[in-house]
Parts: sequence; structure tokens; C-alpha cells
Amino acid sequence: MPSDWTAGDETAALLQQLIRFNTTNPPGDEKECAEFLVKLFTDAGIESRTYESRPGRAQVYARIKGSGDKRPVMLLAHMDVVGVERDRWSCDPFEGVIRDGYLYGRGAIDDKGMLAANAMAMILLNRAIQTERRTLSRDVVFVATADEEAGGEWGMGWMVKNHPELLDAEFALNEGGRTRVIAGGRRYLAIQSAEKISHGVRLSARGTAGHSAVPLPDNAIFALARATARLADHIEPVHLTPITRSFFAGLAAVWPDAGEASAMRDIASGDTGLVEKAATVLSRTPVFNAVLRAGISPTILEGGIRNNVIPASAGVVLNVRTIPGQPIDDVIARIKSAIADDKIEIEVTGSGEEAPASDADSEMFTALANAARSLDPEITVVPYQSNGVTDSARLRILGINAYGILPFPMEQADEERMHGHDERIPVASLHFGTRLIYETLVAITK
Ligand SMILES: [Zn+2]
Repeated sequence: MPSDWTAGDETAALLQQLIRFNTTNPPGDEKECAEFLVKLFTDAGIESRTYESRPGRAQVYARIKGSGDKRPVMLLAHMDVVGVERDRWSCDPFEGVIRDGYLYGRGAIDDKGMLAANAMAMILLNRAIQTERRTLSRDVVFVATADEEAGGEWGMGWMVKNHPELLDAEFALNEGGRTRVIAGGRRYLAIQSAEKISHGVRLSARGTAGHSAVPLPDNAIFALARATARLADHIEPVHLTPITRSFFAGLAAVWPDAGEASAMRDIASGDTGLVEKAATVLSRTPVFNAVLRAGISPTILEGGIRNNVIPASAGVVLNVRTIPGQPIDDVIARIKSAIADDKIEIEVTGSGEEAPASDADSEMFTALANAARSLDPEITVVPYQSNGVTDSARLRILGINAYGILPFPMEQADEERMHGHDERIPVASLHFGTRLIYETLVAITK
């Protein structure tokens, strides 16, 4: 790494420019942002172009050619962002204000920070090729997509359907992991190597309709409420995968709370007796609870039309998230028995695609871990199965080992501003993240 490392400042300036394109989805309107990136690459001497999926929506594709000895590596990020409640922000969310060491703006964390770091890593690699006359063992591909926040139909989904040939890669780096600063200032890098699968499930109750002046015991809303209340008390069984075990084993080494650290070691042990007790301790933290078992969250209530009419039916929509390898039918069977009411209909309305886990022992995983340790010798690196879903599932189905990171060290409180108000990223973390991606690229293209 050159001692005069100024690329972090270049990344910050680039992130400010990217934030200024209002790519709130819907409608997205990513095309202008895409054209800006193509110009940036063209000026840097990197071959790139846009792919328009529909008017106003476009993807960016750039490639640095290698010798072809190995299959390509892909850097992926999305250009669209979620909406803002402007009056809840302390600054303009589309200005890219730098204040007190933080860069503020919608998308600073999700996902324009990584978009900027990926683009910068491409530019740095291209500069290094020219000054050092080195040859890469594989192509490096940069993809920036539209529409990720709304499901990706006009983004990665469109690319997979229309240009699968562009997505040929051995490895991909995407959003979806964490670089977390915990108590005492220690850090861990959680590399997302698998993700849960999201399902829509509807529970419907039926009863006798009528005038509300005459109360009826079989009111559909009573039945639905009883069923939903029983689900609130239902606990799904612990379902561990090799990734979850390594995650907790690694985390135990740096975890500041001794009781929780011991529970993490017990989870990793695989001893059934210890696992149950340890899971009870860790499940007090909602995000760990979600890692340990299938998740069931009621999200939408449906029913009733008038204050004076007893409706004939009522429903609740559940978002159910299963662990890779765990059949949704098993979860449905447990929901059915928890509800214990045969008159409640249960229907799976839609399921995300199940993707295999990425290899947590690959050349790419090692390159990432080594790059992180070169920047912070104290950092702990763990594989991670995320509760959230990303475009990486689509890539894993194509046979690509995709890894999710958030390469910017952050405390949980800052990370929670993602999709919230005053989203911000520490400028120093932007430097760290750009170097992490660049060093990983250097190692993986040797
Ligand atoms: Zn995102």
C-alpha cells in the first residue's frame, strides 16, 4: 500500500457526487447516475457501458481485462436508494454533507458507499496495472444495478434474464455483511456467505357476517386474533448450519459480554444439551434469535369494511424467513399446530428462491480475510448467514461464490441509520473500506 494513500478522499468526493443523484426507488431513475459512472470509467481508461432495462432505468457494466487464466471476479453494488422523510433529517439527504467526520446522505451506507468504494477500487487497480505493468490472472467486472430496493425486477433480475453471459464469474463481492465496531473498539468482519429465504404466508379466518348490533361468537376477527396471539408465543426450533456455528465460534473470541461469549462457544460445540440453553441466552438479542431459527413476523392485517358490519373474513400476512435447507412446509406444519384451529386457512403466497451457500473456505474468502487483517491485525473475520436478502442469492443460483460485506467499520447505532434518518458513514471508514476492496482485488487477481 503506498504511504501517500489519498484514495480515501477521492472515494469521499465520489460518494458525495453519487448521493446527489436522487435515485429514490420508486421510481429509481438510475440512468443519470449510471451515465455519470460510465463517464468516470471512460475518463480513467476503463471500458464500460450502460444496459437500459426500461426508460430511465439502467445498469452499469465495466471490465478490466486479465489474462483469462482464472474466471472473473465481480464487484456488485446497487444505485437505487429507499425514500426519505425529509423533515426528519438535520441536512439535505441528497447533498452529501460532511460534518464532524461523517458523510451524510441517503445511500451513504446502503449502498452508494460500496458503489463508490467499488468504483474507486477499479480505478486504483487500473492505475496500478499501468504504472506497475502487471497482468491480472482474471478479469475484474464491475456491475452497478438499478431497482435492488424494490426486488430487482429491473436490475439484477433483468440482467440474469437478458444478459447472463455478462455475469460469468467465479467470485462476487456485494453488500450484505458487516464490519462492526464493538465495545472496547475491537472490530469484526462478518462476511455474508448465505442468506435466509423470504416467504409470504397468509392466515385467513372465516365467520358469519352480519350487523354488528348483534354480536356473534364466530366473528372472523376474534378467530384471527386468537390464532395470531398463539403465534406470538410460538418459538421455532433452533436450526444450525456450518456457517452459523463458525459465526458464533469466531464471535465468541471478541465478544465483550462473558455470559454471551460462553453461550456462543456452546452453540459452536454442537452438543445438543448445551445448544438449547445457549440459544435461550443468545435469543434475547433479536438479531441473534433470527440467525438461530426461522423467523415469523406478522406484517399486514386485512379485514373489515364498516364499523357496523361484522366481516365474513379477516386475514394476516406473515413474513416468514427460513434458513437455507429448511423446508417451508415444515415451518407451516408447526404454525398449523401452534394455532390449533383447523378453520384457519394457511396459504404460502410467494417464496424467494433458495440459493446454496458460498464456500467459506475459498480463495476469495481468504483474500478478504487477509486484506482485513493487513488493515487491522486485531480484527476477527467470521462467515455470516444474513437475515436480510440480497442480489447475491441470484448469483449463487448461477453458481457464483458471492460474498456480502459492508466494508466500513461502524458501531451498531450508526449502522441502524440505514434506511432511517440522518444516514451517515464515518469518512475514516470509507478509507478503510476502499482499501479493503482494493487489497482483496490485488490478491485475488495475482
Ligand atoms: Zn442495499
